Amino acid sequence: MRNLQNDPLLLTPGPLTTSESVKKAMVRDWGSRDLEFIAMTKRVRLGVEEIAGVADGSHVCVLLQGSGTFAVEAAITSLIPRDGRVLVLVNGAYGHRIGRVCDYHGREYFSMETDENVPPNVSELAAFLASNADITHVVAVHCETTSGILNPIAEIAKVVRDHECHLIIDAMSSFGALTLSVQDVPCLAIVASSNKCLEGTPGIGFVVAEREALQKAKGNANSLALDIHAQWVGFEINGQWRFTPPTQVLAALDQAISEHKKEGGVGARGRRYAANCQVLIEGMRRLGFKTYLSDNLQAPIIVTFHRPRDRNFAFDEFYGRLKDKGFAIYPGKLTKTDSFRIGCIGHLFEDDMKAAVEAVRDVLTEMEISL
Ligand SMILES: *Cc1c(COP(=O)(O)O)cnc(C)c1O
Repeated sequence: MRNLQNDPLLLTPGPLTTSESVKKAMVRDWGSRDLEFIAMTKRVRLGVEEIAGVADGSHVCVLLQGSGTFAVEAAITSLIPRDGRVLVLVNGAYGHRIGRVCDYHGREYFSMETDENVPPNVSELAAFLASNADITHVVAVHCETTSGILNPIAEIAKVVRDHECHLIIDAMSSFGALTLSVQDVPCLAIVASSNKCLEGTPGIGFVVAEREALQKAKGNANSLALDIHAQWVGFEINGQWRFTPPTQVLAALDQAISEHKKEGGVGARGRRYAANCQVLIEGMRRLGFKTYLSDNLQAPIIVTFHRPRDRNFAFDEFYGRLKDKGFAIYPGKLTKTDSFRIGCIGHLFEDDMKAAVEAVRDVLTEMEISL
């Protein structure tokens, strides 16, 4: 059961459809200084660290109020010294957003950009770092949700480490579903949030940061509320959040993490999403749709489809009719190609994806669109 209200299934990059038990975990009041809530905070931090593959306390999870972007901004301003020099790997809107964050916080940066359907070139990265020894930090996106492309994060991490730079990973749309362990992928920090593959509700971001770097990060941040060092010190001193925590969102995340574990962890969650993705792509191709990415670049998170050429296709009407049938999809975000997106993450299963494809087929008939 997912739905008390008959809400549409969210085939989007987040917020996502959550289980009924995750929603129900929120129907309570907690005092933020209460021992029960402090224990919940600790449990969630440990749960996130476990999912990130943290061993021997190499990294620590710092939770932060806000959406994923808040956590990305917090990681950049707190972990990169003011005189740091940044290289941002860009192949979509979230990479561009990282550049904008650097602008706001006065961190000097370069961008290495590839097309939205092309992963960063790892040998070019190596060459750039070799000839620009002043670069201290590299920021990369794991799954670029703009297109749904999977970037080669392990290879990127190896090159960054070989050049003695620090890597910050925006793993927002992959964390919890695609393998990313700080033991295998050396990094300064992984950034993600409560409401994507962990299947919690929106309102908490987090940074899983190297303990040593965090200890040295005092005074870096150009923001009080986004200061991850100070937030961490707060958690270490008394287990409490510095400022009002989103208590219900934390309770939902606590429940979501226990459901993630029960399902079988990252491997099992990733396999469910991969099966969802396959049903979706095969079904849509049978109807005549074309995917934007080739299969070898496609992460099992969200799929970009080319907009049909038929003159009868209008996205808003297509969207509205699908929503009436119980499925919310997402507009495209590509800069050069007309497209729309359908997500396969959240508390969704193969039968849901089959039903979604059938709904698309019916809408095509209703709108008299031929592919
Ligand atoms: C969702 C997402 C974010 C954060 O977006 P918010 O709307 O702030 O939660 C950042 N990066 C990527 C790759 C994402 O998919």
